Amino acid sequence: MTDCLFCKIVNDEVKASIVYRDEQVTAFRDIHPVAPTHILIIPNRHIESVNQLQVEDEPLIGHMFLVGRQIAAQENIHQSGYRIIVNTGSHGGQTVFHMHLHLIGGQRMRHPIG
Ligand code: AMP
Ligand code: ZN
Repeated sequence: MTDCLFCKIVNDEVKASIVYRDEQVTAFRDIHPVAPTHILIIPNRHIESVNQLQVEDEPLIGHMFLVGRQIAAQENIHQSGYRIIVNTGSHGGQTVFHMHLHLIGGQRMRHPIG
């Protein structure tokens, strides 16, 4: 997608603080962190939201979670705990329409959300 911000980050057309990258996913620090660790994990291929996922994307989604866990360990928040969130659509609070996991931690999360 030519005018997608996150595709541009994947293609190095927009700068980001990248913490992890492989052939399937890219992870970078959120520009407006809500906690000491706030990292976005995105598929390198443009997928608008959870609503556009296909059955063939199941391994990709599993990979995104395992990368999330690995980055949590890298950030040293895996023992204290963290939250992984996927906002979907308007009511879900999605503002960038390239699917992403938010990995958030480094402080106690408020609960309940919503
Ligand atoms: P969402 O509201 O779930 O769609 O999340 C989009 C997230 O992208 C927000 O937390 C923004 O702060 C973050 N964001 C927007 N632009 C950038 C950018 N250029 N680099 C890093 N994070 C960004
Ligand atoms: Zn995109």
